[in-house]
Amino acid sequence: MTKLYEQARSALLSRRESLTRQARHAAGAEGSTAGEDQELGDIDAALARLDAGTYGTCQSCGSSVGTQRLRAVPETVYCSGCLLQHALAGGRRD
Ligand SMILES: [Zn+2]
Repeated sequence: MTKLYEQARSALLSRRESLTRQARHAAGAEGSTAGEDQELGDIDAALARLDAGTYGTCQSCGSSVGTQRLRAVPETVYCSGCLLQHALAGGRRD
């Protein structure tokens, strides 16, 4: 596993930890927001891709997502080109 992937994994795990803690705090009040649930799902999916060895590959075009983008948004599934297309098409952006 490369250093980038190790950094991504630890960033994902710590983000996951803080989201889970927030959710526990909010339990009984209004619960976690849809955005937080979505982010948790994205983080879990990214961790699964790290384990599967497919992390860092764009899920739309299959090319490399790129180091800078993975550093900025470790749970991303799209390269910047595909992300732009999805944003233009009205999809989510991250
Ligand atoms: Zn792509």
